Amino acid sequence: MIKRILKAFLFLALLMPGLVNGQQKSENIEALKVSVEPLIKMSLTEVKNLVPPGSGMFFIGCPNCNGGAQEMGVLNWEPGMGDEVKCKFCSMTFPNEKYPNNGEKVIIAPSGTEQVYRYYQNGQGTQYFYEAHAWFDRWKWIQQMAVQLSKVWSQTKDPAYGDRAALIAGRFAQLFPDYAIRYDYPNAPKKFFPANQKWPYEGLVPYRGAKWNWWAYGDIPLQIAITYDNLQQGNYDWSRMDSQIGKLTDQRIVKDLLISGYEFTAANPEIYTNMSPGMYRDMVRIGRILNRPDIVHDGVNRFKEFLKLGFFADGWWKEGTVSYHDQTIGGLESVAKEAKGYTDPADWKGERFENLDLTDAMPFYKSALNVSQQAIFPNGHKLPLNDTWANRATPVKTSGISVSRLWPSLGNAALAAGTGKDQTLLNINWSGNYGHSHYDNASIILFANGAELLSDIGYTHSKYRGWTLHTASHNTVVIDQKAQEQGTVAKPVTGRLKYYDDQNPHVKVVDLDASPAYSMAGEYRRRLIFVHVAEGRDYVIDRFDVEGGETHDWFLHGMCEEEGKLETSISMDRPVKTLVPEWGGTGVPRNQYDSDMIGKKIHAYSYMKDIRAATGNKPWTATWNYQNSGLRTHLIPQADTQIFSFRAPSVRLAAEDDNKLDSFMRLGIMQRHTGTKSSFIAIHEPFQSKPWIKSVRAEGDTYLIDYEMNGKIIQDKVSLNGNSIGIISSAGWKYNKGKAHSGLLKGIEMLNGKWNLELDSDLRDISHIRLDFPDGSSLYFPAKHISGKFIQMDNDPGFSMKKDGKVRFYTFPHNEYSEPVRYTVFNSSK
Ligand SMILES: [Zn+2]
Ligand SMILES: [Zn+2]
Repeated sequence: MIKRILKAFLFLALLMPGLVNGQQKSENIEALKVSVEPLIKMSLTEVKNLVPPGSGMFFIGCPNCNGGAQEMGVLNWEPGMGDEVKCKFCSMTFPNEKYPNNGEKVIIAPSGTEQVYRYYQNGQGTQYFYEAHAWFDRWKWIQQMAVQLSKVWSQTKDPAYGDRAALIAGRFAQLFPDYAIRYDYPNAPKKFFPANQKWPYEGLVPYRGAKWNWWAYGDIPLQIAITYDNLQQGNYDWSRMDSQIGKLTDQRIVKDLLISGYEFTAANPEIYTNMSPGMYRDMVRIGRILNRPDIVHDGVNRFKEFLKLGFFADGWWKEGTVSYHDQTIGGLESVAKEAKGYTDPADWKGERFENLDLTDAMPFYKSALNVSQQAIFPNGHKLPLNDTWANRATPVKTSGISVSRLWPSLGNAALAAGTGKDQTLLNINWSGNYGHSHYDNASIILFANGAELLSDIGYTHSKYRGWTLHTASHNTVVIDQKAQEQGTVAKPVTGRLKYYDDQNPHVKVVDLDASPAYSMAGEYRRRLIFVHVAEGRDYVIDRFDVEGGETHDWFLHGMCEEEGKLETSISMDRPVKTLVPEWGGTGVPRNQYDSDMIGKKIHAYSYMKDIRAATGNKPWTATWNYQNSGLRTHLIPQADTQIFSFRAPSVRLAAEDDNKLDSFMRLGIMQRHTGTKSSFIAIHEPFQSKPWIKSVRAEGDTYLIDYEMNGKIIQDKVSLNGNSIGIISSAGWKYNKGKAHSGLLKGIEMLNGKWNLELDSDLRDISHIRLDFPDGSSLYFPAKHISGKFIQMDNDPGFSMKKDGKVRFYTFPHNEYSEPVRYTVFNSSK
């Protein structure tokens, strides 16, 4: 069951329910009057008839052009359009002669009323509920109108406004008991359930059967509650509704709509997803409006439980995407806001709340905000980790200085240097698979010279979503043409950070064992050595060692924002029809749910077009030229490496329109090595207008990089012998990884408000400490303040250790260990 739930949530839309909290905006009365004027011009009966008679449908696509993605935001409805809708992409209005209503679903509602849902059904059996989609948009619009009308009434006491607000609320209360529960999901047949049936609904996961909004997270009619509250606060005379709705309209709104909406929502099992906090907020708000402390407590209790469950020690929401992290944090913030200052009534018998302040309950809140603010490129755009919308939000203002950073619990690090236009940032990800994740262990993203040179596509609801999730669309290695594994809670697909150093002004290093990604991998290890030569001159030694499986495909994809030009120093003279393996499928996805990670139906390699091949045993280069920047990658292949170049969908620039996906491509290369063991060596050289490295050579495991600086030829000699890393630059600096020293973690304690690790020996001259847990996982922390056997932590490490040595994580993923925890440090490399 849990697995099914997780899977369902992997594909959720990033959507907060259409609830605008009208009270938080300061709107002036004249603007409100203009906004509601169309309703004031109508008779009360006309207003009443605008309230939709049945449940609306949100996800309806266009049968004519199939524009957009996810059947979302495709068909528009505006006031005055009645029950018709118009396509945003092809401008066709529905229904029409070509696409008429040719079927209907008739439901007998609990009151005995007959409800008719008309639809157009095409040859493939897809049903388009135009009218119900118009209802959905009207449902959304008229609630906003009700809130605005009630606000104008509050200030003017003009009954023309009050009556219309009361009428909309009252009419909803009349119709709500008859609103059918429906399953409204993109690219899936709609399902109906009886209007009075609470959870469970056959075949559906929680919150997927909904009565008010399109999913049950938004099923508390909050806007009507606000409308009702405004009228109540101003002592509206509800008897004015006797002739329109009937006697005691106010009580009817409370019982048949607001309480009922809450009860339908609360009947779903609590599953603590990124959408849950928004629902808690609505519970607290409605509980306060209705003077129902039990509902306030329900929301607050769920909120408190939520905080314990889904956050890593470094402040990240477990899904490892900036978009969902922000949504979750924003949701929690809104709960605290709605609950602020709440005091239980005197006769309340349960746990008492006095002048509530929930921000006290969120000690991690600051770090959660911090990580989100740090997950950005130097241009202020969000780092497109996993299902993060790339370049969608307005860029934030940055410090203009790029520094390296590490999120050990999430599994992500960035090596960075430079200021202003000269900032370079190299990101590597090994976040686990806890929803909304991509199969991208050890994948890199490179930003330099103001541009995202090696991109991760990020989030999409378009039909090429399968490509964006797959390992092959990432800058990492694919084994045997298969996607990385999904993992389980017990055996998560994360990585083990073996070494991290960001202290040297010239050299920053990550050594990552990402082998949990593939169970056949004995080794799947990426070492990245970021060399900062001077401002605006950075290069990266990138070594990827793989053992296990038969075929190792090393991918490098260019920029998503621009196709640019790709030049290779060797001739890619052989066209290749396809790289899809014999067992792989070449089907075409119809929508985002055709994201076949197995590859039998739609193999990821079928997204690669215009493939050309070369065979090379000699070093070669690939150069991407973009409008204002470029990247040259030097490759030092092993014997019998096959080399490919290709075009593949960049997805982003298609702006969520399925029809445009094939118009925007990016240029990539792939190196294939077969045999049990492979070692891929690349040197990435970002440049502004032209490359600046003179030559790159390999002598065994030593790499010689020559470049010119201030009129002199400089040589950096980079040696990777075994586990050691050493660099000597003729510019007069050097780097050494230092000698490893290991021992046992003896304890962890809080001293003067800081966490301190107690070790089994005195330490000196270290910058970081690695902790190795009994299951093979590791954590890596800065260790700046050392006194004898004690190391003071900058942040909460997320676990406690008892006297008997038992370790328990009180942060996600809540691991517990009875065996000893070891530590390793590397003596500083000065
Ligand atoms: Zn259309
Ligand atoms: Zn990705």
